[in-house]
Amino acid sequence: MKLVFEKSRPGHASVILPPLDVEKTELPESIGRQSALRLPELSETEVSRHYTELVHEVYGVNCGFYPLGSCTMKYNPRIDEETASLPSFTGAHPLAPAEAVKGCRKVLEEAASLLEEISGMDAMTFQPAAGAHGEFTGVLLIKQYHDARGDEKRRKIIVPDSAHGTNPATAAMCGYEVVNIASAPDGCVDLEALKNALGEDTAGLMLTNPNTVGLFDPNILEITRLVHEAGGLCYYDGANLNAIMGHVRPGDMGFDCVHMNLHKTFATPHGGGGPGAGAVGCKAFLAEYLPKSALMDGGGPIQVRGFAGNFLVVLKALTYILTLGREGIPQASETAVLNANYLMQGVKDVFKPAFDRICMHEFVLDLSDYKKETGVSALDVAKGLIDYGIHPPTMYFPLIVHEALMLEPTETESRETLDQVTEIFRKVREDGVREPEKLHTAPHSTVIGRPDEVAAARNPILKAQL
Ligand SMILES: *Cc1c(COP(=O)(O)O)cnc(C)c1O
Repeated sequence: MKLVFEKSRPGHASVILPPLDVEKTELPESIGRQSALRLPELSETEVSRHYTELVHEVYGVNCGFYPLGSCTMKYNPRIDEETASLPSFTGAHPLAPAEAVKGCRKVLEEAASLLEEISGMDAMTFQPAAGAHGEFTGVLLIKQYHDARGDEKRRKIIVPDSAHGTNPATAAMCGYEVVNIASAPDGCVDLEALKNALGEDTAGLMLTNPNTVGLFDPNILEITRLVHEAGGLCYYDGANLNAIMGHVRPGDMGFDCVHMNLHKTFATPHGGGGPGAGAVGCKAFLAEYLPKSALMDGGGPIQVRGFAGNFLVVLKALTYILTLGREGIPQASETAVLNANYLMQGVKDVFKPAFDRICMHEFVLDLSDYKKETGVSALDVAKGLIDYGIHPPTMYFPLIVHEALMLEPTETESRETLDQVTEIFRKVREDGVREPEKLHTAPHSTVIGRPDEVAAARNPILKAQL
């Protein structure tokens, strides 16, 4: 597709300026521009077509199935956007006097109280702008707690090998030494490995439950008890609460602090559609270390972002929670888990599940046998799915499964869609057996096929090289 500058033709214009109704004056030379302003020249029709063409190159939850595991690409209801577009909220200024923004304060208080109830925590901050930022804030709470007690020997954070990559990165960013422990063969925490890792130098444990292979750890109470017994604190990575909200709470599992991605579980847009919010909750004994914010009282010395964070994202999440209500929140989780199990049963004779047992909100397929038979990798299959019009699942994560594809359908997909997706997986599998070359070179239907993923992430070219 051509750039808007390449489509430009001299004299094509989309603006009709009103007639000049003031006296004309020349600008002083010193502030005038030295070279002509370079703007594309297109008619209104051409501009409209250009952007419509761009829209067709983009894929999002509004286009079709988006099973990106660990990312919870659920449909974001329009009503959330409508509330967040109300001028009384969009026009509020963070430095406005408190009595002028009582409504905003009420939004934050109500959202905090509902999320505390959902997570089983006693206090909350909305400052962090994303999940990883929330982890950073949460682990700083743990650090401040140990520091305040003069307990300086606690230098290590334990992270299971199935963890999201942000967990060890966070612990390292907070100045801790990361202790990796291997998972047991069932994908859960190996209690013996945990016991061996625990000691007087343990600052805490970072864990997500259900874990990244979609399994709920049955030993969770024993795990948090062991960490507490060793004097450490327990951090819950609640990026994704979709499997458990309204059913079990991190606070009741023994965790001391948690972050929740409002931009996953609580239906605010993410990915290219951000911004996000990584709300952090903690138990009462850690509340004094939370960041202070303009609209919420109390808090300690750390500050991770301005004011109350991405306020409008919190407002969208509050709208979502209130729309679903006390019955809808647990029902959303139940449907998410049911959908994941339904899809897993559908595709399980197409590709082998990494753990063939009832899953939570997501599951992982292991394509290593298929790759041995056909030479077609998980990457090739993911790329092949694009040509059938669906977004690929998460690939090569978690690291403990080789040739992994991780699927999270979420509760917002219908049974009909899940059946169609099962059929698409079957077709791609057959394509790989019959015509492996077709998958090695897929996708064939997109503008860009196989970018260098590291270069695309590290050195993205975000403007035209003209
Ligand atoms: C998405 C995710 C994160 C990170 O959240 P971001 O908002 O992308 O920073 C952390 N942990 C888990 C388990 C996740 O799924």
